[in-house]
Amino acid sequence: MIKHYQMYINGEFSPSVSNRTFAVYNPATEQMIFEVPRATIEDVKRAITAADQAQPDWEQLPAVERGRYLHLIADGIRARAAEIAETISLEMGKTLSLATVEVNFTADYLDYMAEWARRYEGEIIQSDRRNEHILLYKKAIGVVTGILPWNFPFFLIARKAGPALVTGNTIVIKPSEESPNNAALFADIVHKVGLPKGVFNLVTGFGDEIGEELSANEKVGMVSFTGSQLTGQKVMAAASQNIIKVNLELGGKAPAIVLADADLDLAAEAIVNSRIINSGQVCNCAERVYVQRSVKAAFLAKLVEKMQAVSYGDPFANSAIDMGPLVNQKGLLKVKALVENAVAEGGQIVLGGNVVDQTGYYFEPTIIDNANNTMAIMRSEIFGPVIPIATFDTLDEAITLANDCEYGLTSSIYTQNLNLAMKLISRLKFGETYVNRENFEAMQGYHAGWRKSGIGGADGKHGLAEYLQTQVVYLQFGDEL
Ligand code: NAD
Repeated sequence: MIKHYQMYINGEFSPSVSNRTFAVYNPATEQMIFEVPRATIEDVKRAITAADQAQPDWEQLPAVERGRYLHLIADGIRARAAEIAETISLEMGKTLSLATVEVNFTADYLDYMAEWARRYEGEIIQSDRRNEHILLYKKAIGVVTGILPWNFPFFLIARKAGPALVTGNTIVIKPSEESPNNAALFADIVHKVGLPKGVFNLVTGFGDEIGEELSANEKVGMVSFTGSQLTGQKVMAAASQNIIKVNLELGGKAPAIVLADADLDLAAEAIVNSRIINSGQVCNCAERVYVQRSVKAAFLAKLVEKMQAVSYGDPFANSAIDMGPLVNQKGLLKVKALVENAVAEGGQIVLGGNVVDQTGYYFEPTIIDNANNTMAIMRSEIFGPVIPIATFDTLDEAITLANDCEYGLTSSIYTQNLNLAMKLISRLKFGETYVNRENFEAMQGYHAGWRKSGIGGADGKHGLAEYLQTQVVYLQFGDEL
């Protein structure tokens, strides 16, 4: 049965003013599963206006009361975790177990952000003048728009709405056209907890139709975007029309460096997991591997053994599988083209290498040896279950190869030698470095790409600060009573 979800504008569920809709497909079965409103620019304006009108009163609420709403939303999410996880899994193909982790993490994230309500602070600065106080306030920016990708669709709503709302901003969320329905469930929870109307709004539609309005509307104070580099550039260009602040979380091409003294079992396990989780469609996961020549053969053998054991299929047909399909045919064909190009340029397929000949967008778990940095597979995001491996001899060579990339999101190092790890940490040009562990960030950390991976960041106190602006007040007073 095809489900029909609505948008959520000014506290009401709403179709598009155009009455148009679009279809959402299950990537495991290629069947149409949902139909959702296809927003127009007018719909976006309605949502932004609602957010703008709601913002002053919302900001006047004590922060702890704003935080209480976030706790209520978190509780509402936990109560409907199974339904939300199934929706995520159906529309973008991740396993039910990973979708469940995502949903619970989202609830925990909102609780975490709610707890900042009593903790974020201004300052009082010493003045050079007698009878003057310099007060530094931390205030809401106003209306935030949040534009999302499909790979962690539910969590990313909270990563934007959590810090935005607790600091007194209001928000308009636009999920990816691939995965809008979990966001409709989020809106339903928001509605049921009685969040004041206009504080949280949801519009569903295509980025090339409504993205510019979301990024450039003069009532918007900040556009918080997560997605590809190319779209990030468009968002930034649009935002520049009205000097709107941008927060950009873009793509990555994380190197994993395996040194000769590494625990090879740990490294192989972490790197395989990194390529399998979410079918390899994760911005922070290891996308290219550099292994020291002396341990290359031993490491490759372990990698093959673990990758061979990976099971895949329709998450609903078998809840025990390791990996679902890729999100859509475009993603599948991109992985195929990158693998074919790598082979044409001298890469050697050690495992897999093909599109799976069955319904759904599946690519075989794949390992490519003899990769090098001139190949497209080592330079652009694969976003699939493919591990390309290159070899190095010296530490300096590993550092040069790892940094030879326009992205700067995450990186990982495998070594048991602290001195070597510290040398790598000091020279790697990435916003995040994982040492001897899987690629996964903590909510109290700071997830922020360097170079073309973004501007600003998310999570922790520094992520919260992105949603605040500073007002300095010079308060002068007399001596008279
Ligand atoms: P995408 O750039 O294709 O789309 C992202 C969003 O932008 C969608 O909602 C889309 O509708 C919208 N959009 C499209 N055109 C637009 C325009 N002209 N103006 C405004 N919005 C527009 O990305 P995707 O395929 O959905 O997501 C995958 C990408 O996201 C990968 O590059 C991945 O690395 C990145 N990502 C980054 C992070 C991070 O934290 N850095 C996290 C998750 C995903």
